[in-house]
Amino acid sequence: MDISFHKPHLPKTAIDEVVKVLQSGWLTTGPKVQEFEQQFSEVIGARYSLAVSSCTAALHLAYLVHDFKEGDEIIVPSFTFCSTINTLMHVGATPVFCDIERETLCLDPSDVLKKITPKTKAIVVVHYAGMPANMDSINAIAKEHNLIVIEDAAHAFLTKYKGKYIGSSTNTTCFSFYATKNLTTAEGGMITISDSNFAEQIETLRMHGISKKAWNRYGKTGTWKYDVLNPGYKYNMTDISAVLGIEQLKRLNEAVKKRSEIVEKYFTLFSKNNNLVLPNNPRDERSQHAWHLFTIQLKDSARISRDDLIQKLKEKGIGTSVHFIPNHLQTFYKETLAPVHLPVTEDIFQRILSIPLYEDLRKEEIEYIAKSINELTS
Ligand SMILES: *Cc1c(COP(=O)(O)O)cnc(C)c1O
Repeated sequence: MDISFHKPHLPKTAIDEVVKVLQSGWLTTGPKVQEFEQQFSEVIGARYSLAVSSCTAALHLAYLVHDFKEGDEIIVPSFTFCSTINTLMHVGATPVFCDIERETLCLDPSDVLKKITPKTKAIVVVHYAGMPANMDSINAIAKEHNLIVIEDAAHAFLTKYKGKYIGSSTNTTCFSFYATKNLTTAEGGMITISDSNFAEQIETLRMHGISKKAWNRYGKTGTWKYDVLNPGYKYNMTDISAVLGIEQLKRLNEAVKKRSEIVEKYFTLFSKNNNLVLPNNPRDERSQHAWHLFTIQLKDSARISRDDLIQKLKEKGIGTSVHFIPNHLQTFYKETLAPVHLPVTEDIFQRILSIPLYEDLRKEEIEYIAKSINELTS
């Protein structure tokens, strides 16, 4: 078998719509981006949705409008993709790495409390794998200490926390539509935000700092005039990407159903394997895991190391990945920041791997993956 770690599922209508955009003569940011933003807001229940070129761009702009700057300490999990952290460096702020809970693999509120100093400005939350973080505790801590909360929802499209979608709260939230994510526009991202002033700032910052009304200067309603209000960025999304997103929004129920069916199969097939720690579902029944990743952790009793398991699975034609190599162990951050020991993050990192989870994964493939893992670990 040859089972790749990820395969995107693009509906045929998405491909047709891309062709239409290519033939329309308008290739970049235009009406389709606006349509995608409106529909995204409706699905999530967000006040404002602003499309950008990536989640990395979304995070950078979120940090900018909340005025993160030199001297500010930002509490953030080390157990995330490097872009959550790199963008903090772009604004000159100092990442303060925080440990995670074993149950959710998201920020541990008790460690957040320990990391707060007079310089702390914000907490950046990551909803790991699509599992909602413990937001009630984190929001309460933020309120008590007057801190901003930003949510990295790269994995959390359609994650629900206590009945509400991630992205519908008052916290500024950043989504990714990168090729491997649950909804993809090849490259792309979205910021959901509830404050109209911040939304307006993001609109200009993502387009060279040019005032919103003037940037569409090659369109029918545009003009040659433009005014630069600040030295902004080139972080806009194209209509080519936006139609991919729009077409996927039309079949969300089907996409969610397929992912949860695969997850159910994995739970059943691994149920007798005592050498694995399987991911948790949220405890609150109004919450919902988005199942971006299906991770397994190897217990000490497993007769193979994580690295060897990855290699053996590769030899059997099964692609896997590791989310994530903790950032405090990466060369740049080891050399730049004060050393920190994060016992749970470091332990989980040694044991965890992500196995294939995508709509087009076939029943035989799921069974082959599970059988191979069960045999190799026991
Ligand atoms: C994928 C990812 C990002 C970056 O997303 P891009 O759209 O590729 O910039 C950020 N944070 C997390 C947790 C991710 O998994």
